Amino acid sequence: MATYLEFIQQNEERDGVRFSWNVWPSSRLEATRMVVPLACLLTPLKERPDLPPVQYEPVLCSRPTCKAVLNPLCQVDYRAKLWACNFCFQRNQFPPAYAGISEVNQPAELMPQFSTIEYVIQRGAQSPLIFLYVVDTCLEEDDLQALKESLQMSLSLLPPDALVGLITFGRMVQVHELSCEGISKSYVFRGTKDLTAKQIQDMLGLSKPAMPMQQARPAQPQEHPFVSSRFLQPIQKIDMNLTDLLGELQRDPWPVTQGKRPLRSTGVALSIAVGLLEVIENL
Ligand SMILES: [Zn+2]
Repeated sequence: MATYLEFIQQNEERDGVRFSWNVWPSSRLEATRMVVPLACLLTPLKERPDLPPVQYEPVLCSRPTCKAVLNPLCQVDYRAKLWACNFCFQRNQFPPAYAGISEVNQPAELMPQFSTIEYVIQRGAQSPLIFLYVVDTCLEEDDLQALKESLQMSLSLLPPDALVGLITFGRMVQVHELSCEGISKSYVFRGTKDLTAKQIQDMLGLSKPAMPMQQARPAQPQEHPFVSSRFLQPIQKIDMNLTDLLGELQRDPWPVTQGKRPLRSTGVALSIAVGLLEVIENL
């Protein structure tokens, strides 16, 4: 019988995913009772030679606040052509192209081995890719050096119009401004205080402008409205700046108690990352 540890290792091996907590809360109330924030570390470009990418759009849950993607854990009623979202329990109809599905004729995204799936979206990219780096600095000197080198390497592989951002965390969380020339500037958050996305956006000065964005669309359609942000910038503009910032990264300076692990603000760092990305989604 497989142990729970093996189950976790298998998931990591197969999907490049490791969760802070391996049981999904079944209600909002349960979610509030969790002693560790639900988070997952994902290896986004993990190679899966056994899984060819699919050349169509993902099917999304119809509940506007959910939009989860159809996956092998959803319950499917093949006769009624309905699927139940496994996150919000919304019952959804399959799109017309799925009329022929049955137990023996399943789309790839319902097969158990496709717990990870790569979609190649056919429509043109409307906005640039965004890479928000959230970097743990509670490392040994050697490891930090190796990490810096990997990060520099990854920057050189990004498309030039990709937007990049940098958050570093140890006991404190630092959100780095990328637009400033010469001096480096960052916002520091304590790791012990939970903040909502709204609070984070207010503190970073990213609250929504009063004018509706439809009217504020930039003249050139290629220019993403978020380009002016201090925290996310096109890599081609701030390449040097970011390279310097990464080069100067130091190990977390806070003392570590003998026999204990360093205090890491992983949860707050991720909340801030989500807060930053939500601003873009709302534009
Ligand atoms: Zn849903």
